Amino acid sequence: MRMSQYFLPTLKEDPADAEVISHKLMIRAGMIRKLASGIYTYLPYGLKAIQRVEKIIREEMEKAGAIEVLMPSVQPKELWEESGRWNYYGKELLRFVDRAGRDFCYGPTHEEVITDLVRNNIRSYRDLPKNLFQIQTKFRDEIRPRFGVMRAREFIMKDGYSFDVDEESAERTYMKMFNAYCNIFKRCDLDFRAVEADTGNIGGSFSHEFMVIADSGEDTIFLCNHCNYAANREKTEVGEKIWHINKDEELQDIEKVYTPNKKTIEEVSNFLNVPTNKLVKTVIYLVDSVLHMVLVRGDREANEIKVKNYLKANEIRLATNDEIEKILGIPVGFMGPYKTSGIRIIADISLKGLKNFVTGANEVDYHLINANFNRDILVNEFADISEARDGDPCPRCENGKLYSKKGIEVGHIFKLGTKYSLSMRAFFLDEKGKEKPMIMGCYGIGVGRTIAAAIEQNHDRDGIIFPAPLAPYPIIIVPLDIKNQEIIDISNKLYNKFLDMGIDTLIDDRDERPGVKFKDADLIGIPYRINIGNSYKKDKKIEIIVRRTKEKIYLEYEEVINFIKNTF
Ligand code: ATP
Ligand code: MG
Repeated sequence: MRMSQYFLPTLKEDPADAEVISHKLMIRAGMIRKLASGIYTYLPYGLKAIQRVEKIIREEMEKAGAIEVLMPSVQPKELWEESGRWNYYGKELLRFVDRAGRDFCYGPTHEEVITDLVRNNIRSYRDLPKNLFQIQTKFRDEIRPRFGVMRAREFIMKDGYSFDVDEESAERTYMKMFNAYCNIFKRCDLDFRAVEADTGNIGGSFSHEFMVIADSGEDTIFLCNHCNYAANREKTEVGEKIWHINKDEELQDIEKVYTPNKKTIEEVSNFLNVPTNKLVKTVIYLVDSVLHMVLVRGDREANEIKVKNYLKANEIRLATNDEIEKILGIPVGFMGPYKTSGIRIIADISLKGLKNFVTGANEVDYHLINANFNRDILVNEFADISEARDGDPCPRCENGKLYSKKGIEVGHIFKLGTKYSLSMRAFFLDEKGKEKPMIMGCYGIGVGRTIAAAIEQNHDRDGIIFPAPLAPYPIIIVPLDIKNQEIIDISNKLYNKFLDMGIDTLIDDRDERPGVKFKDADLIGIPYRINIGNSYKKDKKIEIIVRRTKEKIYLEYEEVINFIKNTF
């Protein structure tokens, strides 16, 4: 591609509304432009990057036995009513009505459409397993679109769905996809981890997320420093090992003590001179319109998603002070599980066996000391609902400790089981002619998000440093004096040679100062810049500059060809 004819509007300044580096650089490098909140155009250079990822995805999917289809983005309400998600999905689902008054949505995901397709066209075990995927535009009316195409409303996703005859076969398919995903992100040259994950809006029995490690990531993951345990924060198990910190202590008499204006854990802990891990913190959630009391140890935090999953709830949020005081009639800041009735209480497993603890007395300015379960407080449910912390013992191995990292979720795979095949009646006939539900799995990759994540991991102060497999153009040729015919000729010769070799190459044939050309080449992150100027005029040497290391290599024409041949 000739820069003089290309459409690559680069910018010197960071856009005002961009928070993260990939968003800034994708705008400045002329890859994307915003049309509306969370809705972006891919310019030619950005589109080329997208196509690089798509090519890798297609190759690995096909290798793993998945077949490409293309489904519509507009989906009828009836299918979503069959699966039960029309009401469940909430405001992220963009709904609209056609001229005949029929309800539709713009697909945020395609379980319903694919299940409908497969149930209508596959009847026999002989036609299974089937694994179908597409690369297509999704719409999710995200509450807070941000970070450019990383959390957009309209975005490109690769989504795949598998159908198997039984659990065993479904698990084999899941593992194939797991491995294919590892291959994809390896081929993209990304530093990533596969972690155990929550199943969210999609549902199903278990899943893994593929996380690109980056400080700007919205997700926190926990990893073991000893074994290969890795999980999303929302899923990280808090092992039994943190229980029973004082299980052998003698029971003391419960006592109500005056704690004037001491409301927070820190205030109470300091005032009573009791460590925070002997305090019980009370949190009230509104779970599907019902108030629930959640107890965690004073040095721990409840995790909303863990609570939601434990209760198998659709919606959850913290109760407001008003709701707590008006409905429960207990004072915020002095709440506790003592003598409460009519509210379900769930205690974190970290509290199991805790003796002589401090908790709110449900009375303004009072706490209880030496409270104990069974004797003073009856709690029937202990569940894993608190958040893991750095340094926690690994829930899987003997000696490991957990540490956390920030990550960007680029891929997500789920074992769906029969969630959709039962509700939507996707049945097949087995060898004995018996009707059975298909066992499903689903597999997503954020294509635009993968590019953004790659940029988060690969940049410096001058701009993007594309990993070679994702680079829209792996090479840029920069003739430094476009008035000099010798330089123009050799530049064109090299350019045509690279095109013949099948390497997408840019040539900066603009009438611009070298400094301007270098700045642009660095900003857009092309792995190899080939300068043709003074050193060529002097002794026929061509300069190759490696974008990542800034290393300079001087070679003659034939050597350049060999160097590039060996590199790509
Ligand atoms: P998140 O937790 O980030 O919202 P999700 O769990 O909703 O993601 P999935 O439903 O599993 O995402 O979608 C599959 C993939 O699509 C994700 O792994 C992610 O890479 C991508 N993706 C999801 N939402 C967005 C978005 N708003 N913008 C860009 N990519 C997205
Ligand atoms: Mg989401």
